[in-house]
Amino acid sequence: MDIIATGMRLWVVENRLAMKRSQGVGSIEGTNRRIIIRIDTDAGLSGYGEAAPWAVFSGTTEAGVAVLATYFLPSIKGQRAAEIPKIMRLCDRLAVGHPEAKAAVEMALYDIVGKASGLPIYQLLGGKCRDRIPFSFSIANPDLDADLELASRMYEEGSRIFKIKTGFADTHDEDVRRVARIREHLPDDTDLRIDYNQGLAAFGALEKLKQMEAFRPTFLEQPVKAHLWDLMADLTDKLVTPVLADESVFDVPSASAAVQRKIANAFSIKLMKAGGMANGRAIASIAKQAGIPCYGGTLFEGGIGLNAAAHLIVATENISLGCEFYMPRYVMDPAETESMVDIRDGHVYPPEGPGLGIDIDEDVIGRCAIEALSV
Ligand SMILES: [Mg+2]
Repeated sequence: MDIIATGMRLWVVENRLAMKRSQGVGSIEGTNRRIIIRIDTDAGLSGYGEAAPWAVFSGTTEAGVAVLATYFLPSIKGQRAAEIPKIMRLCDRLAVGHPEAKAAVEMALYDIVGKASGLPIYQLLGGKCRDRIPFSFSIANPDLDADLELASRMYEEGSRIFKIKTGFADTHDEDVRRVARIREHLPDDTDLRIDYNQGLAAFGALEKLKQMEAFRPTFLEQPVKAHLWDLMADLTDKLVTPVLADESVFDVPSASAAVQRKIANAFSIKLMKAGGMANGRAIASIAKQAGIPCYGGTLFEGGIGLNAAAHLIVATENISLGCEFYMPRYVMDPAETESMVDIRDGHVYPPEGPGLGIDIDEDVIGRCAIEALSV
């Protein structure tokens, strides 16, 4: 396939958010910024990608723009778009880090190759091992009544998984009261998970988490700071409830080390942490050998990044704990979102068309753009 990348368009978009989202290490409120790229080719085909850094988690939008525009894109020009591993190795050599920007480049290239071959990305990855992904919504609105109302509606529509964000309340007792209220409010067959986003102090963490086990969570996600691996291992050893590592397991090397050190019973895979689908898949494989299932996490992506992740998850057996791809539908303004995620009956479905399989509305991108450049 001799399709040559000829250039790229890059937008920084700003979306208004329908609600505040509070989580352990930080909150997002008002607006959310993302980077959208379009890689053009000499075949007239273009592919879209998205980078959604979160400053307190992985990096900044400003740094993402700089690395894409200054380092990656000029070097991608003239390359064969179908040689994805070669281009990703080039990006790795040009700049360390910046996994979100690398994920954006990779998904745009897959989009191009899929469109050129008439195949959806999940097919390029080998095909489906599942048709749909159990959908999880995160209860993170400091206005708990509003979230409970939304959760009830979503339960009626078929959703069974809800992830409660903790670790941002002033006290542990308040966290306990919130979780108790949510457990009481939702029907008994609800699959509840608890995510601290590193928000629990190391001192006394075990006792606090033991109290949370009374609410029968399916897992306890990243209770303490990412670097506290010995404590994570200790909690994993002493708690009955599985511990899931999110911030502690960013990429392929940390996943490999995390397996050896037994710091968790499950991992959260995010394209924005891993630096793309190939790395996400490698993490899932490493975890699988240790009997560790994975979960489809997000930062605050829109429809491009989340649909890319949906393709990966339907094609990767060990990402089996569902996904939290709720932002475009439930938090962003749909009128400001360039494409939606297909959520039905409590499940996410991947698009069926070639490439990412989504129609991108560039008018919407243009309306929300606070910066646009061509490279
Ligand atoms: Mg998390």
